[in-house]
Amino acid sequence: MDSPQSLFTPLSLTQALPFLPLAQSQVDYASEQRSNPDLFQQFEQEGSVSVMLVSGQRVALPFKSLEQAKLGGGLLRLALLPGEYLPSCLRPLAGAPSALYFLGSAGNQHFFALDLDLAGRQLSDEPGREQVEQFAQSAQSRFKWLDVKEFAPRGLSRDVGLATSALALSIWHNAQRYCSYCGAPIAPCENGWAQQCTQENPARILFPRIEPAVITAIVDSQDRLLLEHNSAWEPSLYSLCAGFVEPGENLEHAAKREAMEELQLPLGEIRYLGSQPWPFPASLMVAFKARALSEAFVVDYEETDCACWMTRDEYTAALATGRMSAPGKASVARYMIEQWYGREL
Ligand SMILES: [Zn+2]
Repeated sequence: MDSPQSLFTPLSLTQALPFLPLAQSQVDYASEQRSNPDLFQQFEQEGSVSVMLVSGQRVALPFKSLEQAKLGGGLLRLALLPGEYLPSCLRPLAGAPSALYFLGSAGNQHFFALDLDLAGRQLSDEPGREQVEQFAQSAQSRFKWLDVKEFAPRGLSRDVGLATSALALSIWHNAQRYCSYCGAPIAPCENGWAQQCTQENPARILFPRIEPAVITAIVDSQDRLLLEHNSAWEPSLYSLCAGFVEPGENLEHAAKREAMEELQLPLGEIRYLGSQPWPFPASLMVAFKARALSEAFVVDYEETDCACWMTRDEYTAALATGRMSAPGKASVARYMIEQWYGREL
């Protein structure tokens, strides 16, 4: 019998993932502009502001979007509003914190996200808060609201990128409301990309929290893929070995440690495939492919309750009978499985 090494083809490890829906970056972040507190007003005077709306971890689309996309087969787009559409209480005042995040520019079109949840919390005066509530209520009925996982597989890639950034910032600003050093309230700054402590002098700047996680497509010497079922998932869903990076370790170590923890499976060569943000709430998924040094594994029966090596034919049959289902169309796991499978799922 051939040794595992002789059957192994290193080329199969080196193909990167060509497309990841949440990792698109067609808009120039124009990060050098973020420190300008009058950015919105300046772009608005040029008539070149487009505002998307985010609320409750969802983004706004034109109301009939889904029906039109079904009829025409087109891609879903965000509702992008001109600056004049915003009521006066939602416009940024010079020097005051606002709920508008500057997402970047494409030519002379400048994109902002208005976070309706943050806007509601920022206003302390009663008439202003009422105006925000009315605007938010009418927006709920005038637009179609989707979460990014629903939007991404059918969305224009520029708009999916904008939605991902806006959602990541919104989740962060609405979760982190106080300075983690002194406990004082914070205020957004840098057009949404940072926060500053309102107590410390000079003001301490706080940056968004991002939690890296590794996910690994593990293959054996016969190029079978290891699929595993997590006890918290629906019974048919099978995916790849994944977990958070711990303090003090690098990404490769995290991939090897997770395979040992979940499967007691040692990994050999590891190759980077790609990465995409997963802002639910703050992850960055880093994808690897790795070869197992053994075929034997033992599931931990805590996180993972079942795992199996699958050939492509076995996987095709498992999907056809419904014994297995694939991860969602926005997830990096799906694209990793497709890369191994050789075609779209
Ligand atoms: Zn502080």
